[in-house]
Amino acid sequence: MESATPETTKAAPTTCTVSHNVIVDAHVRAEFPRTWIDHMTYDAAVKGWREATPEEIGEKLEDKCKDFEEFLRDHRSQDVVSLEVVYERATLCSRCHERWEPAIDDETGETFCARCGATLAK
Ligand SMILES: [Zn+2]
Repeated sequence: MESATPETTKAAPTTCTVSHNVIVDAHVRAEFPRTWIDHMTYDAAVKGWREATPEEIGEKLEDKCKDFEEFLRDHRSQDVVSLEVVYERATLCSRCHERWEPAIDDETGETFCARCGATLAK
């Protein structure tokens, strides 16, 4: 005799809430003086930065990052470089702490977490 298998996997009886705007990571971003980019793109692409594509500006910034790391070692430049902490935020499930991805139960119409199956508390 075969054992009965449920036709669908039901959401776990556990509940969860949605945690908005949770800091999930942090990075430092350096903003170079605009004149550095003007100079770089003018020299290298033989056109002003307004005509340069984002890809071209990106390439020049990659080069400038290497230069910047070198001049940090001798720190004689008077140019101002501002540093900023950039927070990465996300909406998370309070139970599994994964990014919130809602799913709807076809029968009950209840919302549950697609990752851990916890039903969204009302
Ligand atoms: Zn979850």
